[in-house]
Amino acid sequence: MTALTPPSAVKRVLLVVAMEQEVRPLVQRFGLEQIQPSPFLRGAPFVAWMGEVEGLVLHVVWCGRDPRFGNVNNVATTAASVCLYAAVAAFGAPDLCISAGTAGGFASSGARVGDVYLSSKCVFHSRRIPDAAGHLEEYGFGHYRSPPLGKLASHIGVKTGVVSTSDSLDAVPMDLELMRSEGTSIKEMEAAAVAWVCQTLSVPFVALKSVTDIVDGPRATREEFEANLEAASLVLQVKTDALLRAVAGTLLAQWANDGSRTAPAAPAAPAAPAAPAAPAARRATDGTTTTATNNSAPPPAAEAPRAIPTVVDSSSSSVAMSIGPDGQSFEVLRV
Ligand code: SAH
Repeated sequence: MTALTPPSAVKRVLLVVAMEQEVRPLVQRFGLEQIQPSPFLRGAPFVAWMGEVEGLVLHVVWCGRDPRFGNVNNVATTAASVCLYAAVAAFGAPDLCISAGTAGGFASSGARVGDVYLSSKCVFHSRRIPDAAGHLEEYGFGHYRSPPLGKLASHIGVKTGVVSTSDSLDAVPMDLELMRSEGTSIKEMEAAAVAWVCQTLSVPFVALKSVTDIVDGPRATREEFEANLEAASLVLQVKTDALLRAVAGTLLAQWANDGSRTAPAAPAAPAAPAAPAAPAARRATDGTTTTATNNSAPPPAAEAPRAIPTVVDSSSSSVAMSIGPDGQSFEVLRV
């Protein structure tokens, strides 16, 4: 066991979500009740729900909106980290925290729109703080390892990979170079900030991210993101459900890796225009291979993996989604 995979069973889970479009399907699926009056300090825009899934106590918090700018969602790192801190202060430390949401994926690491990823590790790619000893530089990246949950990823049918965070939807050439050097599969705007809070408070953390757009693809990010947000949020809903039902009442260590990877460690370089000089290429330190865990624990009673019908037309980068009557099987249609 390590701090990442504590010796107690998972009984309470906290989900942090940035956008209302991402959180609504979750609230609906789990029949969650909004906690009222708000458990947060007056003025805090966060919204919290609570419910029960397979014997788990589930808290879901959404970062809310900013009324000053067209009531947009409070996306990005500041709101996510404060929201999580406030939620832990209000509800106590959970057994697992999940940064759940949508994200960009790198085609060069095998990501496609509609895929879902579980983080092996989270980093920041826009905190560039060179210093003589290299401590601040590495602090900038953050290097927050997730518990190694390779068996869980295969069980629920998601990929694993490095998730990289910044406060921007786009990426400058240096961002792309740093993401490449970290072996990034997934790019988004909250996970590493939430991971920092979790590390500080000794809360096991993973990111669960559903791909809306391809960072190294031909389509403009914003347009592709908006076209796929609804379908990707439904895929996220299905995979969150599968994850929660799988981990409920189990030890996270039971879901540790079995040595196999579901995503390549060092994807090819994202297509980047000529970049300014970048720090020396760093080894992809994907936490999945280096964490000591108790691998001798038997895997949880394995359900047969569910058949997930998938219709693929790889010539396109939009998805539509339909969930079967059992609420679990679904179809991702590339349209
Ligand atoms: N137009 C949107 C903008 C949301 S910002 C709006 O109206 O609110 C994008 C959100 O989706 C962030 O929460 C981020 O985590 C995630 N995301 C999806 N694709 C991303 C990408 N390619 N890069 C960074 N974040 C992305």
